[in-house]
Amino acid sequence: MQKKSYWNETVSIPARNPLAGDISIDTVIIGGGMAGILTAFLLKKKGRECIVLEAERIGGGQTGCTTAKVTSQHNLIYADLIKTKGEVLARQYAQANEAAIREYESVIRQNKIDCDWKECPAYLYADRKKTELHNEYMAALHLGIPARWTEDTELPFRVEGALRFDAQARFHPIKFLKAVSDEVTVFENTKVIKVTDNGVETDKGNVQAANIVFACHYPFVNIPGYYFMRMYQERSYVLAVKGAPPLNGVYLGVDQDSLSLRTAGELLLIGGEGHRTGEDTCGGQYGKLKSAAARWWPDSKEAYRWSAQDCMTLDKVPYIGRYSRRKQNWFVATGFQKWGMTSSMVSAMILSDMITGEKNRHEEVFSPQRHIGQDAAGNVCKESGHTAVTLTKPSGLPEDKKEKVRTTRCSHLGCHLSWNPEEKTYECPCHGSRFDCRGRVIDGPAQKDITAGGGDE
Ligand SMILES: Cc1cc2nc3c(=O)[nH]c(=O)nc-3n(C[C@H](O)[C@H](O)[C@H](O)COP(=O)(O)OP(=O)(O)OC[C@H]3O[C@@H](n4cnc5c(N)ncnc54)[C@H](O)[C@@H]3O)c2cc1C
Repeated sequence: MQKKSYWNETVSIPARNPLAGDISIDTVIIGGGMAGILTAFLLKKKGRECIVLEAERIGGGQTGCTTAKVTSQHNLIYADLIKTKGEVLARQYAQANEAAIREYESVIRQNKIDCDWKECPAYLYADRKKTELHNEYMAALHLGIPARWTEDTELPFRVEGALRFDAQARFHPIKFLKAVSDEVTVFENTKVIKVTDNGVETDKGNVQAANIVFACHYPFVNIPGYYFMRMYQERSYVLAVKGAPPLNGVYLGVDQDSLSLRTAGELLLIGGEGHRTGEDTCGGQYGKLKSAAARWWPDSKEAYRWSAQDCMTLDKVPYIGRYSRRKQNWFVATGFQKWGMTSSMVSAMILSDMITGEKNRHEEVFSPQRHIGQDAAGNVCKESGHTAVTLTKPSGLPEDKKEKVRTTRCSHLGCHLSWNPEEKTYECPCHGSRFDCRGRVIDGPAQKDITAGGGDE
């Protein structure tokens, strides 16, 4: 199901045929979002034969609903990474993301891609959390990031402080994806149902492959890998308004309930009101963004609204690398923490190197097999506890909604679903799967519908 956003509404990517029968290939990539398409693109550049299998349409997943800031400034992260992982790995994280921005520039320049790419500064701004933001500034300097502290911004409200990174960027993600996907073989409307040691089974045929890449946002094979115990999902909302003066920089507030801001064409994108998927049973998110728009940009008018979600890991770092020690030819790119533009490019660079047998100097910090610190290990227990509670306790589902679906348990691991009145969706608070009001899967890890009258419970 294609999600409606400004990006998807203004550019359409030509349809591709589904897989027709069985084939054999070097590498099969599951998922035609930013991560999957970029991985295929870089693998092809290295001379490897690969295909992408996409359950629905290219860019129809979370990539179509992003805000597409391209930055190594990932909220408050560097002070934390230095503390939990040490300076070497924290620097590796920063350098990998900076390298991703430079790689975007190079791909866009070399292929003459018209995607509204605009180099600009990125800012974090603070009101109450000025001390934390200043610590982040010191951490960034310590890691060699050319960061600056300022109190002056172009925002219509006063901030106590702002942290500026230069030479960051913003773009139109679907214009970019359209051009890049033109270079790779993609089969759309082809859903992977089973993954084996030497290939995948789909609803349209089987693919034999030496390497398998899970770029399907949330990996749906539970064992091995155990990603369901080490990730949850968070939703956020975007309001696109006309009539607000353009911003040169891209912005993110670090205080609770503050805003994410960027200009896109004649629109201002106002993002925020994030929550763990499955935990919004009251609604009102767009209303809050509308109030912010009315307060700070009183002449503005709503043009689009959309929402999306992303996978959050235990230690704030994506999982990019081997799926599991037990599966040497399975690879994964997930857990992007709402920073999937650079993280997708980092994934493509690391995974294409791993598959072609080259050493990548940034792979260690992202390894899914990495040691996680004590604090993060505590989060594993919290995640497992969350699953156990939601397995036994239904959460706030109105009686009249239950008739339309066969069950109100998630088809992934059986957790009780909650009803999101804002989106009119059933959502799993454990792992973030979502179903429309008739029970059709919108977002994984669930792969099976819960529609009334079909399949097993
Ligand atoms: C509101 C919001 C704003 C954001 N803004 C930014 C930002 O400004 N900058 C930034 O860097 N990041 C941002 N992000 C994060 C970024 O959008 C995501 O991390 C990124 O788009 C994820 O890309 P992906 O390729 O991993 O997933 P997706 O785009 O979801 O692609 C995965 C694809 O896999 C397919 N798939 C799933 N299961 C199967 C299967 N069984 N068989 C075949 N195909 C399958 C799906 O259909 C989907 O198309 C934001 C996230 C949110 C929620």
